Amino acid sequence: MKRKLVFATNNAHKLEEVREVVKDKFEILSLKEIGCHEDIAEPGETLEENALIKARYVKEKYGYDSFGDDTGLEVEALNGAPGVYSARYAGDGHDAKANMKKLLANLDGITNRRARFRSVIALILDGKEYLFDGKIDGEIISEEKGSAGFGYDPIFMPVGYTETFAQLGSDVKNNISHRALAVKALCRFLESI
Ligand code: IMP
Repeated sequence: MKRKLVFATNNAHKLEEVREVVKDKFEILSLKEIGCHEDIAEPGETLEENALIKARYVKEKYGYDSFGDDTGLEVEALNGAPGVYSARYAGDGHDAKANMKKLLANLDGITNRRARFRSVIALILDGKEYLFDGKIDGEIISEEKGSAGFGYDPIFMPVGYTETFAQLGSDVKNNISHRALAVKALCRFLESI
C-alpha cells in the first residue's frame, strides 16, 4: 500500500509535478481531496514559517502527514523585498500586473537589478519536520517581456539566459526554476526513505 501524503495546495500544476516523481511510493492528496476547502492563511514573516504553517495545519486539523510550500522573489537592491509578500506586494488583490508595476517603479534608476526566486517546502513526516529549498538567480529587466507563466515571470531573466521566464516558457522554466529545485530536493528525500 502506498503511503498517503498531503500537499497543502490545490494548485493542479504543483500537484502533478510531485505526483509524477514519487508515484511508486506515495499517494499525494490535495487539500480538496481531504475535504479542506479553506484558504490556509499565510501570516508568517518568512517563507519557512508560511510553509510550516500550511503543513502543520493539515497535520493538526486532518491528521495527515503533509507538506506545504511558499515562494518569494527577493530583490537585492530592495533588501530582499517583496520576498514573503510577493503575492500581495501591490495590495491584497494578488494582481500580478500591479505587483510588477510597483516593483519596476521601486527599481527605477537603480542599476543593481540582481534578484532571485526562492521556494521553500516544509514536510511533516512521522512526527518530524524537514525543510527543503530551491533558488534561481537572475535580474529584473526594465519592462515586461513574454506572455507565458505567471506572477513576475515577464520581468525575471534567469542567469545564463537572454530571455525572461515568460519568454522561455514552461518546458525550460520547469526544469530550472526555484520550485522545480525545491520539489527535486523533496522528492530525493522521499525516494530515499
Ligand atoms: P506561491 O507561494 O507559489 O503562491 O508564490 C507566491 C507569489 O510569488 C506568487 O503569487 C507570485 O507573485 C510569485 N511567484 C512564485 N513563483 C513564481 C514564479 O515561478 N514566477 C513568477 N512569480 C512567482
